[in-house]
Amino acid sequence: MWIKILLVEDNPADADLLAELLELSAGVEWELVLVEFLHEAIGHLAKQPFDVVLLDLSLPDSSGLETLTRLREVAPDTAMVVMTGLDDEAIALESVRLGAQDYIVKGQITTQLLVKAIRYAIERSQTFQMLRESERRFRAIFDSSFQLTKLLTPEGIVLEVNQTALEFTGMKAQNVVGRPIWEQPIWQLSPLATEQLKEGVTQASRGEFFRIEIDLLGKSGQIITVDFSVKPVKNDTGQVLLLIAEARDISDRKRAEAEILKTLAREKELSELRAKFVTMVSHEFRTPLTTIQFSAGLLQDYSSNWSEDKKSTHFVRIQLAIKRMTELLEDILVIGKIEANTLKFKPVPLNLEKFCSQVVEDQQLNDGNQHAISFIFEGSNCEAQMDEKLLRQMLGNLLSNAIKYSPEGTPIYLHLTCRDSEAVFQIKDSGIGIPTADRERIWETFYRATNVGTISGTGLGLAIVKRAVEMHGGKLAITTQEGMGTTFTATLPLICNSSQQQD
Ligand code: ATP
Ligand code: MG
Repeated sequence: MWIKILLVEDNPADADLLAELLELSAGVEWELVLVEFLHEAIGHLAKQPFDVVLLDLSLPDSSGLETLTRLREVAPDTAMVVMTGLDDEAIALESVRLGAQDYIVKGQITTQLLVKAIRYAIERSQTFQMLRESERRFRAIFDSSFQLTKLLTPEGIVLEVNQTALEFTGMKAQNVVGRPIWEQPIWQLSPLATEQLKEGVTQASRGEFFRIEIDLLGKSGQIITVDFSVKPVKNDTGQVLLLIAEARDISDRKRAEAEILKTLAREKELSELRAKFVTMVSHEFRTPLTTIQFSAGLLQDYSSNWSEDKKSTHFVRIQLAIKRMTELLEDILVIGKIEANTLKFKPVPLNLEKFCSQVVEDQQLNDGNQHAISFIFEGSNCEAQMDEKLLRQMLGNLLSNAIKYSPEGTPIYLHLTCRDSEAVFQIKDSGIGIPTADRERIWETFYRATNVGTISGTGLGLAIVKRAVEMHGGKLAITTQEGMGTTFTATLPLICNSSQQQD
């Protein structure tokens, strides 16, 4: 065995003695470099490696434990054996604590003791280096893992925390290590989260694996969802020594999942809508088509013997049926545009008073005078800028509902008030009203209240009304009582710009 020794000793007698003792050793080949000052020792160690340093702590340029610490700084991996006096046992032990591999007491040194101390020191130093290397490797894996990882005692006290976890939580290791894991801010989102964590620690300390998905508090106050687990680490007898707590941020995945679920729900809704649409269209078109077929057939077969009045009744029936189908087609088209978000908003100058009386007249004709529809106007300026087609659809649908859902002979009112910069349209009937349970949903396409009985309809009108009001940047309100009547109030700005369109 070839050993390169740096002897740091200012007392020539002690140095000679050591050299002689080494001469006497068998089976060891060595090279000895002797220096008297600490700065010389530092110089040598900086230039070349030594297997071991034999170090006297009291030198002309340094004394006590400082000699050791300064030398350790330049040669952290070199084995060191401290030489102390007879009465310096305490210093000797302290120097081992500070990183010396061994100590020998001057005056008690034999060749055997010296060689043994040198050999053990070199071995210990090598083992220590290997340990440090292995620790460095494991630390690298521990720190660079994507998971937020902590090592815990079975009681839940943090022993180690990896870099990922520190970066993620914005914490410093010294504020985490040595404290219960549940005291960390990330776990303070709710008492439930802390409780679940404690339960996880308890379960793992009994030797069982624990795993949950849980919401925690991110470092900037945002809520994050993590896949969290606590694993027990056991010794050969099955005793739990450590717990490994791991968390993986799955917020993005969760968000994507929620997005997919939303899309699926929307898809489902759309396919239900399509199904309802087909049923509705076939049903709603069949009634006027049957009327047309019936009246046309009668006219063909019997009209030669009929009076003009009777003929006219059937022609009117046919025309009304065609009108109903045209309106239905128009509604379907508008709903299609609403669904596809392609409905255009084109405001034009309108005199609201004239416009409303014309709409009322049309409706009165449609109704065949079964209800008295009164139009009341209040205000002075009714010059407006609105989308004519949408406004016609809005008022037309509200008035046709009022007609359709109230008994023959009951009055219907359209009240228009123009004040300041607003126009308020009130459509009032004394009809069947809308049950409380249905009120929220009547704006949905195809939704019809539960009290409509045999009154026919598609459930498209109010969806169009709602959108028309939105596009004008207005508000819609409803007061209704079942069996007593309904009032719809639409408040629109008198002047609407095309930029008002809301999507
Ligand atoms: P259509 O598409 O042919 O207008 P509809 O009248 O059934 O069919 P909407 O106008 O959208 O559809 O109205 C939805 C539902 O709201 C109606 O089915 C009805 O239940 C209820 N409703 C609307 N207006 C009134 C009203 N004035 N009185 C009572 N119920 C009403
Ligand atoms: Mg309607």
